[in-house]
Amino acid sequence: MKKHYDLIVIGSGPAGRSGALQAAKLKKSVLVVERGRQLGGVSVHTGTIPSKTLRETVMNLSGWRERSFYGRSYRVKEEIKAEDLKSRLLKTLDHEVDVLEHQFTRNRVEILMGEAKFVGTKGIEVTGNDGERSSFTADKFLITTGTRPFRPDYIPFNDVNVLDSDEIIELPRVPRSLVVIGAGVIGVEYATIMQALDVHVTLIEPRDSFLDFIDKTMIQEFTHEMREHGIDLRLGSSVSDVECKDDMVHVSLENGRQVSAEMLLFAAGRMGATDNLGLDACRLETDHRGRIKVDSKTYQSAVPHIYAAGDVIGFPSLASTSLQQGRVAACHALDEPTLKQSPWFPYGIYSVPEMSTCGMSEEEVQERKIPYEVGVARFRETSRGHIMGLENGMLKMLVSLKTRRLLGVQIMGEGATELIHIAQAVLNLKGTVDYFIENTFNYPTLAEAYKIAGMNAWNKMPKPDLSE
Ligand SMILES: Cc1cc2nc3c(=O)[nH]c(=O)nc-3n(C[C@H](O)[C@H](O)[C@H](O)COP(=O)(O)OP(=O)(O)OC[C@H]3O[C@@H](n4cnc5c(N)ncnc54)[C@H](O)[C@@H]3O)c2cc1C
Repeated sequence: MKKHYDLIVIGSGPAGRSGALQAAKLKKSVLVVERGRQLGGVSVHTGTIPSKTLRETVMNLSGWRERSFYGRSYRVKEEIKAEDLKSRLLKTLDHEVDVLEHQFTRNRVEILMGEAKFVGTKGIEVTGNDGERSSFTADKFLITTGTRPFRPDYIPFNDVNVLDSDEIIELPRVPRSLVVIGAGVIGVEYATIMQALDVHVTLIEPRDSFLDFIDKTMIQEFTHEMREHGIDLRLGSSVSDVECKDDMVHVSLENGRQVSAEMLLFAAGRMGATDNLGLDACRLETDHRGRIKVDSKTYQSAVPHIYAAGDVIGFPSLASTSLQQGRVAACHALDEPTLKQSPWFPYGIYSVPEMSTCGMSEEEVQERKIPYEVGVARFRETSRGHIMGLENGMLKMLVSLKTRRLLGVQIMGEGATELIHIAQAVLNLKGTVDYFIENTFNYPTLAEAYKIAGMNAWNKMPKPDLSE
């Protein structure tokens, strides 16, 4: 193992992975330091992949997708246990880690398992998982240490029935009832996935609204779906106390009400994982949530040879954007020109039903005072929707009246996170509503909803000049 590298990457989640691989492709010497037991970060071990695998398992074993045909009591497996959920998870994670290890080895990326700490502006010390210490220097550094769950003192976390968003994936058993505190993306995903398992879920959010970056009409539809399936949604409810007694968790709300459940998931916020990183030694500061400030295009920090990418820099904190950021940061650090980033990226919320958006919401269009028209399609209007027995699902499209350009698309329902990429392409290629009218779509597909929503908007808009 060398003592000096062109680039040292701290953390092996999506941002670290793509940064390291990009640097290796540029024939640079790269060391990745990872303090976890395995490579992959939050994304592979406690966040993205485990929660999406859990969702897939629940959707399959519960027979959720078939219930509109066979009734709400239909199940593929009568009693779904924690072991059923875990077995698919372990296989998926093993596969993910194996692919990542192979990518690193194939590309000659060196790996050291241990915790990295800056000891100067150009040097780190790594305490190996075996306790051994070693020092390294590099020309450039990429910090991709991600986040850890926020754990406030008033929540009695206990690894058994009061869990944070990293621990829930180790689900000791499937509870009969669950309280989720925090209706952010993670809270909403777990609340709806657990509800699909017939767990009685109460979702508590101190604010009066949730997922504010999504179009209000879409959230209204989604809220209706959640309530329809039995989720008890308590908005505007702050928690004053949490107590564990007699195998139950009792949550007291400031409005005087109390909620009791077998298990509690606290999913209100995450903090940048920077506390043990020795940032003082390299003269870097963080904000109150442990996040590092960087240039939004190059990911360069206030110390020019140190870059940071992924969740540790804050918004949007997605695996998808972290992958992009890591690669761009490595290119900039190593003086390699790279393409400009497209303005619009999608958000995927893997709730049940899932949601995905790209571009502006109706509220944003109104704020910017852009004259616009709306096109809506319901999945039950599509033949594919009939075949699949879909009872919910909609696509909403916003179009500029002035330029006819697509401004944003919001989708709720089966396949939303895949379907959204059509919107993303049209948005980033500056396409207009006419695209959906001119083009033929496969039939029967859910993508046909674009055509229907496009027609719906088009029919309400002044017609383009078709004389040529
Ligand atoms: C429950 C959940 C569901 C999610 N679902 C989605 C989703 O569906 N889609 C999506 O795009 N995103 C999703 N995300 C977000 C996604 O997981 C993160 O955006 C992504 O993992 C961030 O990648 P990263 O590279 O910044 O860091 P991380 O994946 O957080 O990895 C950071 C790594 O750095 C290591 N590390 C930290 N400090 C040190 C140190 N001092 N020395 C050495 N190593 C260190 C850690 O051990 C960790 O392995 C989800 C997150 C959660 C929690």
